[in-house]
Amino acid sequence: MRLPVLDIEEVCERQLCTGCGICASVEPDRFEMDEALEFGRRPFVKTDAVPTTGDGLACCPGVRLSHADTPREGTNPAMFDAWGPVLEVWEGWAADDAIRHGGSSGGAATALALHCIEAGGMERVLHTAARTDAPYLNESVFSTNRDELLARTGSRYAPASPCDRIGEIENLPGRSVFIGKPCDAAAVRNARRMRSTLDEKLGCVIAFFCAGAPSTSGTLAILEDAGVTDPSKVRSLRYRGNGWPGMWRLEYEDEQGEHRTVERTYAASWGFVQRFRQWRCYICPDHTGEFADLAVGDPWYREIEPDERGSSLIVVRTERGRRILQAAVASGHIVLKHRDDTLLPRSQPNLMSARGGLWARLLTMRLMGAKTPVFEQLPSFRFWMSELSFMQKVKAFTGTVKRVLRKRLRERQAIERWTPSERG
Ligand SMILES: Cc1cc2nc3c(=O)[nH]c(=O)nc-3n(C[C@H](O)[C@H](O)[C@H](O)COP(=O)(O)OP(=O)(O)OC[C@H]3O[C@@H](n4cnc5c(N)ncnc54)[C@H](O)[C@@H]3O)c2cc1C
Ligand code: SF4
Ligand code: SF4
Repeated sequence: MRLPVLDIEEVCERQLCTGCGICASVEPDRFEMDEALEFGRRPFVKTDAVPTTGDGLACCPGVRLSHADTPREGTNPAMFDAWGPVLEVWEGWAADDAIRHGGSSGGAATALALHCIEAGGMERVLHTAARTDAPYLNESVFSTNRDELLARTGSRYAPASPCDRIGEIENLPGRSVFIGKPCDAAAVRNARRMRSTLDEKLGCVIAFFCAGAPSTSGTLAILEDAGVTDPSKVRSLRYRGNGWPGMWRLEYEDEQGEHRTVERTYAASWGFVQRFRQWRCYICPDHTGEFADLAVGDPWYREIEPDERGSSLIVVRTERGRRILQAAVASGHIVLKHRDDTLLPRSQPNLMSARGGLWARLLTMRLMGAKTPVFEQLPSFRFWMSELSFMQKVKAFTGTVKRVLRKRLRERQAIERWTPSERG
């Protein structure tokens, strides 16, 4: 039996929050997003909060994801269960060389968004950038031109809640683009179902593939490992991009006031921070942006040559996404190399077994009395049967038992605010 999660506070305290920020957007008089060091960005109840309307919980992707109203027409029927709606899969990149170089992969997310505002009749892009006052943290920003978008290229493997400003889109003139993780795109899908003005004003939703979001304690740990114990000395922090996949690059001021730079490979930095991923990422069924119009990721189906220029996998998820991709090619923002639906499973070969493992994780959590989200039409049992070896099956159960105990998933955990000054 599945025990229901009753409110946003419980979503967070049960570690089911993804940190998307949509609850703070749809209930701004009750919730505000802030940093929770060990978890990520989380909604906190304001001091003068009004009672909840329930809208935050209704939009929350932490507790519910559903493909019940996802159109299946035109999608690849053989792929829907494992990969969500797939209309087309392409490898391509940004036509603008600077965006292609600056982007995480081939700059496709940025180039698609730029097309939307330069040639697609949209006004702005809601997405994520390094905070200007504390560049090791993130903030949600609106970009309205190429320079702003270019400055904000690159995946940031740290907490971000881009949906926390989505409510503003309803009151701004014209249509907007949204870029976020798969869970952020799912939150947007839930919110636009409830709010017709938001639905009209969102011109395009772009998601990128995501294996998990590490907490701010992960950022502080890698800074410390690189020799920076005072994060207020950080002047710039990029996780990748400026090459493919690009380097983790830290710029800081040392104790003598000298400007220093530390670089690590993408593999080394992700290898370090990935163990700080929030719990909800371990039970995430959608790592490839199934609720977006367009999803982008790395075309890892092949080895990357040294100094190869950036390249992106682009998955068309909706008819609107198909029109926008075609128009972005016609307007000269995107270059497409070749089309092949199998590029998606070949680029993310572990995701079908991860979906299978999810079945055991959720079952183990329920048997141990931990609360779990509802995932509708995102099947996992058939992949449990077909994709996992006997040992993987055993480990899916035993590993989850250990994590439920270690992370205390059967209890509600107090979530505390953290401010940079506590370390800086
Ligand atoms: C937490 C995380 C996990 C990832 N896991 C995978 C993976 O498993 N497989 C894979 O192929 N790729 C993964 N990526 C990388 C990403 O999917 C690819 O780099 C993607 O191809 C985007 O490249 P691009 O060049 O098109 O993006 P760019 O043109 O560089 O644009 C990136 C966009 O993402 C936004 N952004 C950056 N960080 C965040 C954030 N934390 N939250 C919300 N928005 C953000 C920026 O504002 C920008 O608009 C991950 C990225 C992140 C941040
Ligand atoms: S997942 Fe999003 S909507 Fe749900 S509690 Fe967290 S921030 Fe709020
Ligand atoms: S793994 Fe899933 S839940 Fe975690 S940040 Fe990525 S999309 Fe969101």
